[in-house]
Amino acid sequence: MLVTMETLLHPAMEKGYAVIAPDFLTAGMLRQYITVAQRYRAPLIASYPPLPIDALRSFRRWLPKLRAICEAASVPVCLHLDHGKDVETCRLAIEAGFSSVMIDGSALSLPQNLAMTLAVKEAARPRQISVEAEIGHVGSGGSTLEGRGDATCLTDPDEARDFVARTGVDALAVSIGTQHGRYTGAPRIDFERLACIQSRVSVPLVLHGGSGTGDDNIRRAVTGGIRKINVFTDIIRPYLLASRDYLLKNPHRPSGLKTRQQATIDEVLRHYFEISGSLGQA
Ligand code: 13P
Repeated sequence: MLVTMETLLHPAMEKGYAVIAPDFLTAGMLRQYITVAQRYRAPLIASYPPLPIDALRSFRRWLPKLRAICEAASVPVCLHLDHGKDVETCRLAIEAGFSSVMIDGSALSLPQNLAMTLAVKEAARPRQISVEAEIGHVGSGGSTLEGRGDATCLTDPDEARDFVARTGVDALAVSIGTQHGRYTGAPRIDFERLACIQSRVSVPLVLHGGSGTGDDNIRRAVTGGIRKINVFTDIIRPYLLASRDYLLKNPHRPSGLKTRQQATIDEVLRHYFEISGSLGQA
């Protein structure tokens, strides 16, 4: 069934696990994620990656199909727009039928981030769509703490408390040392900061850049209050490598490609369901 993000994150908060939010690129990938979620009875936040606004206009035609896939699932699935970069993009996504959106003003000034988040919350209210925002900034490829030893991108706990109080967001992405894509060095997660944020903020906390963070760090982050974990690189790399490998070896038997892809997704997602504690929760 198709649900909002809030519907999934409330039980996660009560029971102390995190819901996995993998990005998908095609309707086929969405179906494959749902097949695995159903197999392991795990709730799922199926996330669509950032879209330029022109692409989103044409993408709207696809939404009924994606919604129908989620509605037919035997586990609760949220259809989420990841990293909406401006208010108009999020408005279009809400009208098109996503059940949750992220407004990502984290690379902008705090007043701009606040204003954008408030505007998206307003647009989401009539349809009761969940809104995620980000404070601090999770970068990629060494642009955060890792690689620069620079704490300026990390989430300030007091700022996080004020931001949530002023915007009423349903979930808050925090920057505690993870980064999108591949890490340039060993991940260093600031668990003390997470504890401070958690003591000040009552909405579910989100960890972006889950890939490569490591099982122990993920488990500790969940214990420390993370309730949604975004994962993409750890899925798409083996998925593409397995697809290439299969087609090189079986150029005249493309019919087996889906089985190979499904097995790859099964392995990675099951692992993330296990370490997040969401396996068996649906
Ligand atoms: P990774 O690709 O590092 O897992 O990050 C995914 C993400 O945070 C999407 O928002």
